[in-house]
Amino acid sequence: MNEFGTVLENVDLKKYNTYGIGGIAKYLIMPDSIDALSNLLKYLNENKMPWYVLGGGSNVILPDDDFSGVIIKLDQLNSYEVKNDTIIAESGILLGNLINKMLSDGFINYASLMGIPGSFGGAIVGNAGCYGKNIFDDIISISLIDKDGNFKTLKKSDIKYDYRYTEFKDTKNIIVKAEIKGIKGDISKALENIKQNMEKRINTQPLEYKNAGSVFKNPPDLSAGYLIEQAGLKGFTIGGAKVSLKHANFIINYHNAHSCDIISLIDAIKEKVKKEYGIELQLEQIVVRWDNNGE
Ligand SMILES: Cc1cc2nc3c(=O)[nH]c(=O)nc-3n(C[C@H](O)[C@H](O)[C@H](O)COP(=O)(O)OP(=O)(O)OC[C@H]3O[C@@H](n4cnc5c(N)ncnc54)[C@H](O)[C@@H]3O)c2cc1C
Repeated sequence: MNEFGTVLENVDLKKYNTYGIGGIAKYLIMPDSIDALSNLLKYLNENKMPWYVLGGGSNVILPDDDFSGVIIKLDQLNSYEVKNDTIIAESGILLGNLINKMLSDGFINYASLMGIPGSFGGAIVGNAGCYGKNIFDDIISISLIDKDGNFKTLKKSDIKYDYRYTEFKDTKNIIVKAEIKGIKGDISKALENIKQNMEKRINTQPLEYKNAGSVFKNPPDLSAGYLIEQAGLKGFTIGGAKVSLKHANFIINYHNAHSCDIISLIDAIKEKVKKEYGIELQLEQIVVRWDNNGE
C-alpha cells in the first residue's frame, strides 16, 4: 500500500487520540494526495479491508479492542491558499494552523475558535465551535471523497448541519477540503480575544489531564456541566475515568482509563441526570466501534 502514501504498521492508537485510549491498528496510512486517497479507498473496498478516518482524535472514544483494518489520517493533505477573500484549505491542516494562517492574511473570522484541538476536517464533521462561533458559519463549500472513492463538491446549502452536528457524522464520506469565506478585521483585537479565551480555557478546563473536550451537548438553554455538577457527580470515578472536578462536562483519563470505563461513566451520568431532572443528555463525543469484518 506504499503507493498511496506513508504506511505505518501495528500502530498503538493511544498516541493518536486525546483520551490516550485504544488498542492496536494493523495499519495507519497517510495518503499524500487527494488522488492517492481516492485510489486507496477503491483498493480497500476491492480487498474488503475495513477503514476508519481519524483527525486529531480529540472528539472520539476509541474502542479498547485492536483494529484489523486501516486508520486513514489526512495529515499530508494540509494545503492552504487564498483567492481574493476565499480561503481553500485541505482538511488535514490543524485547526490552530489554519487560524494562524488566516490571521497572517488579515482574516479574523475564525479567531475565536483558537484553542479547539484537532484537524480542520474533524472540526467540519462536528461543526465545532465556541464563544458563539461555529465552523459552518463561514463555510462556502466542502469537497469530499465518497465511500466508493469518487470526488464531489457540495455547497453549504446542500449540507445538513446544526449545533455540533453535520450529516457527515452519519456517512462514510471523507472530507478533503473546504472553501471558507474570509472576513478581514482588526488583528490586534482578534489576538487579544484569543489570549483571553485561552486563559479562560486554562482556568476552566482540565487541560492537565487527557480528555476529549465536552462529553455532552448542552441541552437547549441549559448547561450539561451544570446539570452534572448539580447531580453530585463531580469527581465520580469508574476504573481510570473520572468526572473532572474542574468542569463536570469533562471526563478525564485519570489513571490508565480504558474505553469501557469512559463509556460506563457516560451511562451512569446519563442515568443520574435523567433521574434527577428528566433530561436525556446527548453525546457530543463520538463512540467508535470497529468494523473488523469490512462490512
Ligand atoms: C481540551 C479540548 C477542548 C475542546 N474544545 C472544544 C470546543 O471548544 N468546541 C468544540 O466544538 N470542540 C471542542 N473539542 C472537541 C474537539 O477538539 C473538536 O470536536 C475537534 O473539531 C475534533 O477534531 P479532530 O480532528 O480531533 O476529530 P476526530 O476526533 O479525529 O474525529 C471526529 C470525527 O470526525 C471524523 N473525521 C475526522 N476527520 C475527518 C475527515 N477529514 N473526513 C471525514 N470524517 C472525519 C472522525 O471519523 C470522527 O468521526 C475540544 C477537545 C479537547 C480535547
